[in-house]
Amino acid sequence: MKHPFRPIATAAIALITATACVLSAQAQEKVLNLYSARHYQTDDAMYDQFTKATSIKINRVDADDAGILARLKAEGSASPADVILLVDAARMALADSQGLFQPIKSKVLDDAIPGHLRATPTAAGVTWTGFSTRARIVVYDPLRVKAADVATYEQLADPKLKGLLCIRSGSHPYNLSLFATVVERLGDEKGEAWLKGMVANMARAPKGGDTDQIKAVASGECGVAVTNTYYAARLIKSSKAEEREAMEKVRVVFPNQGTSGTHVNVAGAAVAKHAKHRDNAIQFMEYLASPFAQGYFANGNHEFPAAKGVKVDNPALKSMGGDQFKAENIPLGVVAQNMTKIQQMLDRVGFK
Ligand code: FE
Repeated sequence: MKHPFRPIATAAIALITATACVLSAQAQEKVLNLYSARHYQTDDAMYDQFTKATSIKINRVDADDAGILARLKAEGSASPADVILLVDAARMALADSQGLFQPIKSKVLDDAIPGHLRATPTAAGVTWTGFSTRARIVVYDPLRVKAADVATYEQLADPKLKGLLCIRSGSHPYNLSLFATVVERLGDEKGEAWLKGMVANMARAPKGGDTDQIKAVASGECGVAVTNTYYAARLIKSSKAEEREAMEKVRVVFPNQGTSGTHVNVAGAAVAKHAKHRDNAIQFMEYLASPFAQGYFANGNHEFPAAKGVKVDNPALKSMGGDQFKAENIPLGVVAQNMTKIQQMLDRVGFK
């Protein structure tokens, strides 16, 4: 006898199969749209490896940080962006505050990346995650300044350095992030006095980028300056003799080794608020924390890996002591909390 339920069962199975096909077609759309403010050739190899391992094709939009934020805002919920790569915790915090990211939960990221290099977690998860670190160091002219006088960030405000300090704009994200963690440590009153002391010590009004500050120390215009490690490493590795010579004239200090550690910042990533390929996006973020990707991510710009236990060999960083310094471990989430306050302090003390 023919089984009475068979036609129904068959139809049901056919329906389930059809539905599953539609669902899996959606789930398996092997695409990831990446908006990136990083433009290093070595990153291509890192992306290619991800595609090889997962069959997920990466479409990349390259722009600077401000361009990416403007584009995301203009696109709104129609934005195709899945993952956003930005440089500096202050920029991450800004994008986060504008609602451009979404929180994610990932045990892989929780295990791999130290919590202080990520956004402050909420019940919904974590928005942005740092994938490489850079230290904000001091360079000085050994003919005019003693190493002992620039051993800490606090000393940059010491009247001993009057007329010697060169630094880029106070409201640049690299400085906002540094100032946010120093003020977190010192408290508001001492923090603001520190900013004021630096203004009083300036050799010139803030101008140019970090590389310009190093060169100004080498040329004798300034006695001490602040820079991210990778700019110093780039000069060490420069194909131009005058740039290598400039770096040879200055000395490097990793500040606060005896106390809180040297301030480190991150280049990082987040899943976009309106990501259409959320699973792929999380998979990509997790891939960035893998030792293989970490090597490329860090070395592409002379940075340090963010993932626990991952080391990369970078002779330029090593030559300035970058393989053995104590890093600050104040959560970079405080950058978001302190941002407005720092900007107000900068206005009050006339830090341009
Ligand atoms: Fe930079």
